[in-house]
Amino acid sequence: MIDSHKITAKPDFLLEKSPFGVCLLGKDFKITHVNEKWIAITSKDKKDLIGKGLADIFPQIKKNLSHFLDELKNTNRHYHIHEFPVTIETEGNLTGRFYNFLYCPVFDSEGELDYFCSLAVEIPNAVALKDQLEKSEERLRLATESNNISTWDLNLKNFQIYHSESLAHIFGYDSTHSITQLEMKNHIIDEDQHLLDEALADALATGKYSFEGRIKDKNDKIKFISSRGKIFYDEQNVPDRMLGVLQDISERKNLEKEIEEREVRYKFLADAMPQFIWIGDSDGNLNYWNQAVFDFSGKTLEDFTTGDGWLQIVHPDDREKNIEMWLNSIKTKTIFSLEHRFQNKNGDFKWMLSRAVPDFDDEGNVKHWVGTSTDIDEIKKQEHQKNDFIKMANHELKTPITTIKGYVQLLKKMRGNSDDQFLNNSLNTIENQVNKLNGLIGDLLDISRMEDGNLPLTRRPFSLIKLVTETIEDIKASEESQEIKFVLNSDSDIEVNADKERITQVINNLLTNAIKYSPNTNNVVVEISTKNNQAIVSVEDFGIGMDNEELSRIFQRFYRVSGEDEETFPGFGIGLFIVKDILDRHKGKIWVESEKQKGSKFYFSLPLNKKNK
Ligand code: ADP
Repeated sequence: MIDSHKITAKPDFLLEKSPFGVCLLGKDFKITHVNEKWIAITSKDKKDLIGKGLADIFPQIKKNLSHFLDELKNTNRHYHIHEFPVTIETEGNLTGRFYNFLYCPVFDSEGELDYFCSLAVEIPNAVALKDQLEKSEERLRLATESNNISTWDLNLKNFQIYHSESLAHIFGYDSTHSITQLEMKNHIIDEDQHLLDEALADALATGKYSFEGRIKDKNDKIKFISSRGKIFYDEQNVPDRMLGVLQDISERKNLEKEIEEREVRYKFLADAMPQFIWIGDSDGNLNYWNQAVFDFSGKTLEDFTTGDGWLQIVHPDDREKNIEMWLNSIKTKTIFSLEHRFQNKNGDFKWMLSRAVPDFDDEGNVKHWVGTSTDIDEIKKQEHQKNDFIKMANHELKTPITTIKGYVQLLKKMRGNSDDQFLNNSLNTIENQVNKLNGLIGDLLDISRMEDGNLPLTRRPFSLIKLVTETIEDIKASEESQEIKFVLNSDSDIEVNADKERITQVINNLLTNAIKYSPNTNNVVVEISTKNNQAIVSVEDFGIGMDNEELSRIFQRFYRVSGEDEETFPGFGIGLFIVKDILDRHKGKIWVESEKQKGSKFYFSLPLNKKNK
C-alpha cells in the first residue's frame, strides 16, 4: 500500500485526468492549480482562478471561511476530509447543479503541511428540490383550481378523507368545513346511489375509480359531479389510499341535456312534416331521412343504408339522371334540384321535386347537405291535363283558322287589282291577325310538347343567310313591319345542319321581338358571322332595352318584364323560352346584351355544318 503522506510531487497527471473537479491551494489558501472540470463548474476563466482566494470565487462562503480554514490547518489528521458545501446556482436556474467542495490537507515527507487539495462533488440540493416540488405543487393547484377541479385523498384503511377547500364549496359548505366521506355519500341523490356502489366495486377490481352522478348540496341544489381517482397499494398489496379529483359538471350536463332536448324537438318537427327531409355527409352519402320518407315508401332506415340505399325508391328511368346531377352538385358544391319519381309502399310512382343545399364551414368546405323532396304529383297531373287540353284546343282551333286563312287568301285573289283601299286593308289585317293567332297557338302547342319531352328535330343542311333573308322578307310582307329597315351584314354563306322550321321560329321570334320592343325606332341590324366552328347570328334593336334583373329572367317560361310600358306589348312570355329550348337541343347557345332605353342585342350560335369547317 502506498504511504500517501510520502508523496511530495504535485500530482499533475491525476489532476488533469480526474473525472472530478480538482483544485490545489497553497498554504495561504490561494489557488495554484485547477483542472478543466473545476474550471467548468465555476464557469470562470482559468486566469481568474489562479492566485485567487476561495472567498473571491465563492463570495457566499466568506462569512464562515476563517473558521473553516483554521479547522483545516490545525487538524492533526493527515487524511481528514472537511466538507464545505457550496451551491452554485447556474444562471439563476435552480434546476442547475449543486456541489459540495471537499478539502484535505496534503503533507510533505517531513510531515509539514504542503498544500490543500479540493474536490468538487455533485450533490442533489435539498433546498432546490423543495423549491421545485413547491413550484410543481403550485402549478397543479392552479391547474386544478382554474378548471374548478377539487382534489381528495381517501385513506382506505380508516376512510378518513382530506380534500381541497373548493371541494367543500361544491357540496354547499364554506371552505373551512371539512367534509367526511360519509357526508359526501349522503349528498348523492337516492337514484344515483347505485352508481357510487358500482364505481367503488369497479375501483377495487381495476384500481381506477370513476363516478358521475347527481348530488343534492347543503342548500338542496341538485348538481352533477364527476369524481375520478386511483388506488395506491401498500407493500402487502392491500389498497391503502385513493387519490382523486372531483368536479362540478352541472353546466356541461345541462348543456348536453339542452342539446339533447333540442335534437328531440327538431326530430319531432322534421318527423311531423309531410315534406321529405334528408341529410347527407360532405361526400353526398345520405344518413338521415325523416319519418315521412319511411311512411311513404314503407322502407326502413336499414333498407336505406344497405345495397342500393334510397335509390331503390327512385323510378328506374330517373336514376341515371339523378346520380349524374347529384354527383355534379357534390363536385361543384352547388344546389341540387331535380324532378323525379319515387315509389310509394303500394308500388305507385309519385312525382317529387327534390332540392338539396350545401351547408358550409368557415373554410368553405361542405359540412353536410340538407335536402327536401316535395310531392308535386298533383301539379304534374294538372300540367298533363293542361297539356292535353292545349293539344286538343290547338287541334280544334287550327281547323277554323285554316279555313279563315284559306278564305282570306281566296278573297285577296278575287279582289284582283281593286282600288277599294278599305277592302285591301281589311283583308291584310285579317290575314296578319290570323297569322299571329296561328303563331301563338303553335307556341302553346310547342310548350306542352316540350314538357312532355316530344318536340322532335328534323335536321338537314341549309343556308343560314338564305333563311334569315327569307324570314326578313316574310316579316316585311306584313303591313305593320313595312317601315322597318333591316340591315343584314354577313361575310359569306354559312351552312348549318339543323331543323329549318325550328330555326326559322328562332329567327322570327328574335326579329319580331326586336320590332315589338322598339316602338319609336324602325331600325334592326342583323349580323351573321362564324367563330370557333359556330355560326353566330345577332339581332340588334334600338328600343326599350332591359336592365340586368330583367335580363336574368327573360328565358324563363311565362316571364314578361313587368312595367307600365311592357303591359302595352302583347305576348305570352313563352317565345324566348321556346327559342332557348330549340337552341339547347341543337347544342347552340343564346345570350343578350341590353341597356335600358338604348336597345338590345340578342345573339345565338349554332354548330356549323361539317362542310363549312
Ligand atoms: P313575349 O311574348 O312577352 O314577347 P318573350 O319570351 O319573347 O315573350 O320575351 C320575354 C320578355 O323579354 C318580353 O316580355 C320582354 O319584356 C323581354 N324582351 C324580349 N325581347 C326584347 C327586346 N328586343 N327588347 C326589350 N325587351 C325584350
